[in-house]
Amino acid sequence: MGRVVVVGSLNIDSTVEVERHPQPGETLLGGDLVKHFGGKGANQAVAAARAGARVSFVGRVGDDADGDAYISRLAGYGIDTAHLSRTTGVSTGHAAIAVAADGENTIIVSPGANGRVTVGDLATLNDLGPGDVLLGSLEIDADVVAEAARIAAARGARVILNLAPYAALPGDVLDLADPIVVNEHENELLAADGYTPRSVLVTLGSKGSRWGAHEVPAGAVSVVVDTTGAGDCFCGTLAAGLAAGLSEPDAMQAASLAAAASVGWVGAQP
Ligand code: ADP
Repeated sequence: MGRVVVVGSLNIDSTVEVERHPQPGETLLGGDLVKHFGGKGANQAVAAARAGARVSFVGRVGDDADGDAYISRLAGYGIDTAHLSRTTGVSTGHAAIAVAADGENTIIVSPGANGRVTVGDLATLNDLGPGDVLLGSLEIDADVVAEAARIAAARGARVILNLAPYAALPGDVLDLADPIVVNEHENELLAADGYTPRSVLVTLGSKGSRWGAHEVPAGAVSVVVDTTGAGDCFCGTLAAGLAAGLSEPDAMQAASLAAAASVGWVGAQP
């Protein structure tokens, strides 16, 4: 059974319900503040750990209480946090989310410590080998993720790159990934960039997912409560499955079932 190293972001998501969104200059009173642990990297790491993988996390938190809480939370899932560093004088990543009565969201993300991840933080990737998996996503500096892919590929590890939120990566880096994971929107942005990577897995929401010749339907869901983080859950479980030696269609199947289960709960990580 291989290791999964996740290189990515951690955020605290703070959500307030409002009747309507404020105009510039306006102050509104909203509902109670609800906080969830989020950030694509951390969501993916938790999903991989829950799927049974041995997971290490590479990323950064600030020297604040949110950073303390996040480190203990990931450790509580059995995730190795030895390479989750702290940056002094900066906040842990934060997303301030307002949800209006019509369901429309506005979100302000402060990357905070996520913006301080550098190639100097990638040392643990030198220990990867065949059978191991690197899983990268793009809420941190895309150049760092590109370098992580190069190091992991040079060690013979499998590289999975989730191009979310979408950012253009050099073609030679895209071709290291097996697979690139994108949702339908990100797939359109990738196509618009005019480069076709060798291995692309497209998640299609309730329509399932497609990876080359493999097409897997979405898992059955009785009530869709919150689709936030469905893609992250999919990526983390896929990485765990491939690290465990599952075939590609079997790993997709496992990822689809986990992602379907995740949309029945509020919040990405829960
Ligand atoms: P993202 O969350 O990144 O936008 P998708 O919406 O494509 O990505 O969802 C990722 C995966 O989660 C899908 O491929 C599917 O397996 C699962 N999923 C998403 N929405 C549903 C749903 N309504 N019912 C069942 N599975 C879902």
